[in-house]
Amino acid sequence: MLSAITGLKALIFPESKGCPLCGRQGAPYQICRFCLQMWADLAEGLVPCTKCGRFHSGQKGEMICWECQEDEPQYIMSRAVAPFEGLVREAVHYFKFCGRRELSYPFGELMAALIVQLFPFRTFSAVVPVPLHINRLRERGYNQAALLAGVIARILEIPLQEEALLRIKETPSQTFLSRQEREANMKKAFIPGKDALLLKGKRVLLVDDVYTTGATVKECCQVLASAGVGEVYVVALAAGIVKDKKDNKPKEV
Ligand SMILES: [Zn+2]
Ligand SMILES: [Zn+2]
Repeated sequence: MLSAITGLKALIFPESKGCPLCGRQGAPYQICRFCLQMWADLAEGLVPCTKCGRFHSGQKGEMICWECQEDEPQYIMSRAVAPFEGLVREAVHYFKFCGRRELSYPFGELMAALIVQLFPFRTFSAVVPVPLHINRLRERGYNQAALLAGVIARILEIPLQEEALLRIKETPSQTFLSRQEREANMKKAFIPGKDALLLKGKRVLLVDDVYTTGATVKECCQVLASAGVGEVYVVALAAGIVKDKKDNKPKEV
């Protein structure tokens, strides 16, 4: 078993030719089976919510998490490759904040494979990434969701529509915000872009890197629906673990 330190080394020194996460020799840009197994282990004992795709304990045989039961999201369904924990969290961090844009290839491949596995007969008219605000885009140099969407679009041969949504509000980091604060934060953050009209009545695949509370994706779906988009399916690389209801109370002020 590879240690977390070996994995970290490969993430920091990307010149290694094999697995982009641990450096183990193998096909370039392909995540090795050891890393994939470690990703799978993170989901052990958990089931994806059949609506939002976040992972939960599935106690009492519930397939839909309590949050989706209380407030059903507008999209048809959302799914993610792995829980946003441990090594996955680390890999996403390098992809997003350390310039490791080439990780979009293996990550996008995993997401495309998940879509084929889940919806083998579903056809999508477009792949739409969650957009970044122009200032954030300038700062980072790339939109990680758009890179993933590009890889998925190429593999599945679906047109990429990067201009269907536009982010007009610069939102502060969501990391330390509660679910309610995140939802308030995302209000009016997006408007339909110039290509939204092309998607009227169509079924689209919305792509983001991480699905945590769903505030971002839900807001995007609302804007897409207001522009007449027919159905939205969501795919993310990683999704959070649904907290117990008692741990998710809004903070007392
Ligand atoms: Zn590996
Ligand atoms: Zn759910």
